[in-house]
Amino acid sequence: MRAVITGGAGFLGSHLCDYLIARDWEVLCIDNLVTGAELNVSRLLANARFRLVQHDVTRYIEVSGPVDYVLHFASPASPVDYLKLPIQTLKVGALGTHNTLGLALAKKAKYLLASTSECYGDPEVSPQPETYWGHVNPIGPRGVYDEAKRFAEAMTMAYHRAHGVDTRIVRIFNTYGPRMRLNDGRALPNFVHQALTGQPITVYGDGRQTRSFCYVSDLIEGIHRLMQSNEHGPTNIGNPQEITILEFAKRIRTLTGSTVPIVFKPLPQDDPRQRCPDISKARRILNWEPKVNLEEGLQLTLDFFRQQVAAGNRAG
Ligand code: UDP
Repeated sequence: MRAVITGGAGFLGSHLCDYLIARDWEVLCIDNLVTGAELNVSRLLANARFRLVQHDVTRYIEVSGPVDYVLHFASPASPVDYLKLPIQTLKVGALGTHNTLGLALAKKAKYLLASTSECYGDPEVSPQPETYWGHVNPIGPRGVYDEAKRFAEAMTMAYHRAHGVDTRIVRIFNTYGPRMRLNDGRALPNFVHQALTGQPITVYGDGRQTRSFCYVSDLIEGIHRLMQSNEHGPTNIGNPQEITILEFAKRIRTLTGSTVPIVFKPLPQDDPRQRCPDISKARRILNWEPKVNLEEGLQLTLDFFRQQVAAGNRAG
């Protein structure tokens, strides 16, 4: 089996590359390395079944030979990144999705779109089932990501209905684990970095907003099961263990053994007040649910971040 993974040098994309290479797939990883990094796939480069091509998928994608699966994971995904890269984010969700669907059509390949819980915006329903249409501000700062992904879902369904492409859509909720960038601006890397370097932990707003954090290995397992299923409608994959951001900050502080203060900063515009996946569909059709609890997952992630901080200290 041969897969094309866009964004394959990013956090989730690189874990997916590892997973498929370990299962004897051939993987062509396409990434423009804007938020991804070659280091994430460096261990795979020596493998004859793996290839990394630096390319921006908003431009025509040329792939020779057969392709069995196209997995479109390319996009900035941290709010800080997509606020810095608003037009690139819209383009990769729109033009990148069009190009990757075109590739799947031409190669008669199956297709999986990495979509997001941001499709639900600032949800008025919790937990969020796939049937909820969402509550998104299209012209707010987060709209560049939310609307790009909503367009991407619409385009994916259009290729499925009009061209018969065998498509899947995964709505990914907050995920964490090794290879997140320490400086990507998201809550987990920020809190861990702050705790490990003796800086105050910055909680935005009053910290009562909630998120539900899924460990990366659980997420990849869910995606693999979705790839093998015949489900075309969007499917939530995430961990339904919901936690307030203030509590999350405290857990990270305790786990790192740090005593830094927690300081409150302004809440970014349109920051969702609550987020929790309803995973009954994934449980039912994929027989999937997360296995790694927050304590275990944070411990594994912390080991990775400790090495990163130590490497940064050595370099700096
Ligand atoms: N957040 C925070 N402090 C930070 C970074 C993020 O309090 O240093 C909050 C952010 O406002 C949001 C939550 O943590 O309510 C999760 O943010 P993240 O950027 O990780 O991802 P999101 O779920 O918003 O896409």
